[in-house]
Amino acid sequence: MIPARSLAHQDVGVFGLARSGLASVRALKAGGARVFAWDDKEAARVIAEADGATVLPWRDWPWNKLKSLVLSPGVPLTHPAPHDIVVKARHASVEIIGDVELFAREIILNLRPPGGGAGGRAPVIAITGTNGKSTTTALTGHLLDESGFDAQIGGNIGTPVLELSPPAAKTVYVLEVSSYQIDLSPGLAPQIGVLSNITPDHLDRHGTLEAYASVKARLVEQAQSAVIGIDDAQTSSIFTRLSGAGKSALPVSVGKVLGRGVFVLDGVLYDSQGGRANRIADLKEAAHLPGAHNWQNAALAYAATKPYAKDARAVASALMDFPGLAHRIEDVGRIGRVRFVNDSKATNADAAERALVCFEDIYWIAGGRPKEGGIESLARHFPRIRKAYLIGEAAKDFARTLEGHVPYEISGTLENAVAAASADAQSGVVLLSPACASFDQFRDFEHRGEAFRAAVSKLAMREAS
Ligand code: ADP
Repeated sequence: MIPARSLAHQDVGVFGLARSGLASVRALKAGGARVFAWDDKEAARVIAEADGATVLPWRDWPWNKLKSLVLSPGVPLTHPAPHDIVVKARHASVEIIGDVELFAREIILNLRPPGGGAGGRAPVIAITGTNGKSTTTALTGHLLDESGFDAQIGGNIGTPVLELSPPAAKTVYVLEVSSYQIDLSPGLAPQIGVLSNITPDHLDRHGTLEAYASVKARLVEQAQSAVIGIDDAQTSSIFTRLSGAGKSALPVSVGKVLGRGVFVLDGVLYDSQGGRANRIADLKEAAHLPGAHNWQNAALAYAATKPYAKDARAVASALMDFPGLAHRIEDVGRIGRVRFVNDSKATNADAAERALVCFEDIYWIAGGRPKEGGIESLARHFPRIRKAYLIGEAAKDFARTLEGHVPYEISGTLENAVAAASADAQSGVVLLSPACASFDQFRDFEHRGEAFRAAVSKLAMREAS
């Protein structure tokens, strides 16, 4: 745990006590703050109290004494409307920050540990973008670990930032940050800021695409050095603006040859400096980085770690043995000649498309709680699909789109779908890439992916016996 000493002896409110909120309570207490905490859920309040917070409804906090409000990134700051507590804090002139800000004040502003010493200084690589954040973050951490560093990976992925280990000799912090977290972190000025791509998403929370893009841009603007994917209109104009202003910014592209920058052409990763392109690795051979979207993630991770991981051969081999992340085009087994692939994270048609382009002879399990637009945008990939197995609330709608193009059955449940697909397939891939949210039948996409994995292992055991 990283104690948050920047608010020592101050009164601080923490609102929203999920994992990062509770981590903030503990870090603030360890750093010597007086903490007031609230969450609508009683179970969370009980933990916060045990961790030393004064649990009180937020309206009863001593607002005239509070120094800061630490807000959970899930609480609306601006859109669709500021939460009442945000209005209250503004009215009382209390700063509103998040756990990443507490981390930044501790690590980036380099507060010295009590008793002096050089501790506290460790590089921070912060990664944002609409898509590919988690994969790029995990891969960046992996490349650093395999190059002899101790990558502390957290933020929006896995461990809350304040629960990471304090800095030691080889520490590099690798943080995934969402736009909500950037909004709450004015002091997040990492050594390296990575921006992958920007497409319309979460506009409900940011209003317009421009507002959303400007939050993402802030991360790379505040970074000492930026790594920017330049393959969409928004990020490409951010790159042009930053490099025009003299900022250190490295462009990354899949498909464009760059005179200076990191790019991928036909699956091969190049690092280009002074007009000379060095071939780094053939990403087509990286078993767990399938598809052009993962080539972008790999190129970004490579570019982000360049100042630290100097042994090109170690980096190339680390790209090859990256184990991948669960629920994202993840191989979960093979029965005979049939592969089973879990892409439960694909909760919309766009994400499912990334998986469909990776395979031929697909036995496709899709459906769940539908998203706007359905699967019509996937029509050009229908020839790759041998048969579809439709589940959940979207089944009938998807069936209408597939009618006359792809054979299908309405399987209803995931378990039925796995059994039917595996009975039909002699070879090829049984792919769960639902293009839907999971909430009609599962807690979340992880739960859905685990259910798929369990159904596949059950079948494999039955086959084996
Ligand atoms: P995030 O953390 O931003 O949600 P992930 O790495 O978890 O991103 O990937 C989630 C899904 O987004 C993947 O299953 C894939 O469909 C898609 N995706 C991943 N990387 C990219 C990328 N670079 N560009 C576009 N889509 C991507």
